[in-house]
Formats: sequence, structure tokens, C-alpha cells
Amino acid sequence: MRVSTPLADRFGRIATDLRVSLTDRCNLRCHYCMPAEGLEWLPREEVLTDDEVVRLVRIAVEELGVTEVRFTGGEPLLRKGLVDIVRRTKALSPSPEVSLTTNGLGLAHVADALADAGLDRVNVSLDTVRRDTFAEITRRDRLDDVIHGLDAAQQAGLTPVKVNAVLMRGVNDEQAPELLGWCLERGYQLRIIEQMPLDAQGEWRRDDMVTADEILASLASAYSLEVSPTPRGSAPAQEYVVDGGPATVGVIASVTRPFCGDCDRVRLTADGQIRNCLFAREESDLRAPLRSGADDVEIAERWVKAMWVKRAGHGIDDESFLQPTRPMSAIGG
Ligand code: SAM
Ligand code: SF4
Repeated sequence: MRVSTPLADRFGRIATDLRVSLTDRCNLRCHYCMPAEGLEWLPREEVLTDDEVVRLVRIAVEELGVTEVRFTGGEPLLRKGLVDIVRRTKALSPSPEVSLTTNGLGLAHVADALADAGLDRVNVSLDTVRRDTFAEITRRDRLDDVIHGLDAAQQAGLTPVKVNAVLMRGVNDEQAPELLGWCLERGYQLRIIEQMPLDAQGEWRRDDMVTADEILASLASAYSLEVSPTPRGSAPAQEYVVDGGPATVGVIASVTRPFCGDCDRVRLTADGQIRNCLFAREESDLRAPLRSGADDVEIAERWVKAMWVKRAGHGIDDESFLQPTRPMSAIGG
């Protein structure tokens, strides 16, 4: 079988960008994501093996038209088989774009091996360049490791290196221009993400969220910004040209300016569940059929069905909105 069926939904969208969570575990405890004590991790036997991950990714790429694969988590660098999974993914035919979203801890040690395995790019999450603020947000004093990881990624050619930041009111929201300046000096592309209701503690409040308008006003206090002329397509970030260019900064306004109509994503959790949306309340299990001998055609058909029922939008602003039961760290951001 060859790309028989694209991952289409009832609203005409086609998913070509697969986010694969390799673990729900993490070595940081970012406030907007997890409580201080961490979470109850998935039992090991429920987590897909490396071979199972690669098989599902192969079906997605070779049969279902997926062209981009991003590995995430939890913290994907905690997954022992990561380099091998990347190598086997890149070797698929047609070879997909392969990227990684990471907190950067330990990246300095594996950036070369990842590049050698065929990884194309990394996104490193960094919300501040101040040590005390970093420790406050992540509850760990590890800023230097992240900075070394970023540097190693760039040296290894995992470019463009992107930096993802979330702003927390009263904590780092006034540091946005400083973070942008730091990224510009190093050639990293900063993207600031509105905080979403995906924290495990359910503490997110719309009123506390730093909005895209506020983010832009803060950046504009130090830089001139113009909407990038490059078409946005299905990218979640609206890019702005900084001080006449060529550098840009992105703002991901998932809450105040949702881009659900252009969404081309599908997610696979570490325990083998398909989520057709970050905010989906239902999942489709691929692990059970995988482990009970289903062939590729059956798995592909289940995947196609799971995508067909994707909702039109996340509805965060609807009164009926319910936060998904899985937090961001277990879905794969
Ligand atoms: N541990 C890796 C990392 O931090 O990059 C990968 C997983 S993390 C869940 C992926 C991205 O989600 C990170 O950039 C993080 O900042 C973002 N994130 C986590 N919780 C979020 C929330 N409540 N709202 C918006 N973004 C969030
Ligand atoms: Fe870990 Fe990433 Fe969540 Fe921070 S955002 S706690 S680094 S999974």
C-alpha cells in the first residue's frame, strides 16, 4: 500500500504534520505545565517501544501522507532510543522533515549525534535568560545547560534554531524584549506562545494569560515590528520582521487568534493514542491493535477514522470549553 488516503477531516483540512511524544517524563517542572511534585508517569509497559514508534511513524509517512515529524514529550531527550528513532524516521521513503522540541537539558551532549542521524531542526524552550527567573519558572537551576544546548545545536547545524517562550504575568512578561535581544545576537528565532489551558494542575486563568497584543506591545517598546510578508500557511506563529529585518520574531496566539482553520497537525502520544487536536477530549487507541497483530492497512484505517472526526476548533473561548484530561506534558506540545 502507498499513500492511499490522506488524513483528512470533515472541514477540508489535511494533516501532514505529525507530533510524536516519546515520553511523558520530564526533568523540569515548568509552572505552566506541571506541579512541583511532577505527575504520575505512564507505566513503562504502556509506553510504545522504539520499534512500535517507528512502525507507526512509517505508516503515517508512507501510507498517510505525513511529510513532517516532530519528536516531543515530556522531555524527548530522556528517551534512550531517540537518536536511533530519528535515524530510522529520516530513512523512510519519502524522507520526512524531522525536528525536535526540547527543553535543551543534555542537548549539548547529543546535538552532533542527532544531526548525524538526520535531524533537521530543533526548537528549544527558554522563557528567560535570567538565572533566578529561570529557576522560578522551571523550579530547577539549569539555565546554563539550556544555553550550552542551544549553542551545540547551532554548531551542529540544526538550524534555524528556534526558541519557544511562554510568558507568565508578573514573572517574565517584562523580559520579552531582553529575550528577543539575546536571541537576535545569537541568530536564534524567538517565538512567544500564549499560555494555554493545558497545565496539569488546571490553574490556567484567561485573565492571567499574557495575550498576543500584550506580547507585541512589550516587544514594540524596544523594537520596530512589521507583519512578515511571507505567507503564514499552516504555521501557528505569525511572524514579524524586527527592525527592518532580516531577523523575525513569531507570536503564537493560540487562544486570542486561533488558527484551527489552517491546522495540519496530528498527535501520537507516548502510549500510542492518536489525538486529532491538542484540545481533543477523545483519543483513538493504536497501541492495542498494534500489539494484537493488526496489519498496516488496519492501523492506517483506524488513523484515518480518528482524523475524520476532528472538531472545527478548540473552543477555548466557549462557555462549554473543557480542559482535556491529559496535560500538555503527556500529549506532546
Ligand atoms: N519538554 C519539551 C519542551 O519544553 O520543549 C517538550 C514538551 S513541552 C510540553 C512543548 C512546549 O509546550 C514547550 O515549548 C512549552 O513551553 C510549551 N508549553 C507547555 N505548557 C504550556 C502551556 N500551558 N501553554 C503554552 N505552551 C506550553
Ligand atoms: Fe517539561 Fe517541557 Fe513541561 Fe517544562 S514545558 S515541564 S520542560 S515538558
